[in-house]
Amino acid sequence: MGEKVIDILRHSNKTLCSFELLPPLRGDDIESIYATLDPLIEFKPPYINITYHQEEIVYKEVQSNLLERRSIWKRPGTVAISAAIKYRYNITVVPHLICGGFTREETENALIDLHFLGINNILAVRGDPDIESKIFKPEKGGHKYTLDLINQIGNMNKGIYLDDDLEYAKPTNFSFGVAGYPEKHPESPNMKSDLHFLKKKVEAGADFIVTQLFFDNSKFFRFVELCRNEGIDVPIIPGIKPITIFEHLQYLPKTFNIDLPEELVRKILKCKSKEKIRQVGIDWAIEQSRELVRSAVPVVHYYTMGRSDNIRKIVEAVF
Ligand code: FAD
Repeated sequence: MGEKVIDILRHSNKTLCSFELLPPLRGDDIESIYATLDPLIEFKPPYINITYHQEEIVYKEVQSNLLERRSIWKRPGTVAISAAIKYRYNITVVPHLICGGFTREETENALIDLHFLGINNILAVRGDPDIESKIFKPEKGGHKYTLDLINQIGNMNKGIYLDDDLEYAKPTNFSFGVAGYPEKHPESPNMKSDLHFLKKKVEAGADFIVTQLFFDNSKFFRFVELCRNEGIDVPIIPGIKPITIFEHLQYLPKTFNIDLPEELVRKILKCKSKEKIRQVGIDWAIEQSRELVRSAVPVVHYYTMGRSDNIRKIVEAVF
């Protein structure tokens, strides 16, 4: 079994860095994951996160004016990639597990696979709503909220499976983290309500929180303060993503419900080339990370989005 993230955090006396990877696009091979991770592994991350991606429904024109509804799973393979990384680099892995697209039975099967593979850390999230309807629809017989998903994991840790007639019902040993939102989850009516449900996830056994990306550290520090005031006492890990392209100015606020600081926007608007924008993104993330390290956060979690050249420069400058 891999070391538990919560134990790694408890035993560390300095800020660590962790990386979040995406499974390769369908058709690509696992070498692309290694190519992203190889340049980062020398920084000795204590663990690696691997995201989970749901199938998407697309409409493909098969004849003129005739559309066919198809289900496409663009980035399959989270469980297999997690195991491959764990054994290739001898490192702890944290696959993400989502509610969307899973029945309870499928969730149980995924957890059994992870358990057999010796993977005992999970980041449990709900998954995003469908792009068109913007409303999250759970699978029939699946979980509506992450809270329900972590209750199922908690039950398995007690040896409670869906079928209560099993001859052997051995307890699993999962530790799980959940997501937190310094600028509020987009569907939450207000921060108070979001924190109320975040606290419920912690009371249900979440060992740590990883935050949505943000570009203004004061929002993160305020979020930590609000969490502590609510009695949420688990480690809170800030999530950092460097801006890489001009389009992020609109895409990131719209997708993640976050604000971009005026100074950052001003700097990007002044850039005359794609390279300069990428550099502004790197420099901003370095400054953010340095301040977070000075404030003694347990880990800085980097969203790689499948590219590591910029993340490498940031980590090299900070750690
Ligand atoms: P929940 O905790 O279920 O919360 C969703 C909303 O419902 C919130 O507004 C919350 O306040 C409210 N709520 C929660 N519980 C209840 C309740 N019992 N009753 C009423 N309201 C409630 N997406 C992926 O598809 N794959 C990934 O790998 C992935 N990784 C992520 C990693 C991190 C660190 C973060 C921050 C996000 C990630 N996401 C991922 C995105 C995530 O799935 C979305 O942000 C999703 O919209 C919400 O997930 P959640 O776990 O916070 O949901």
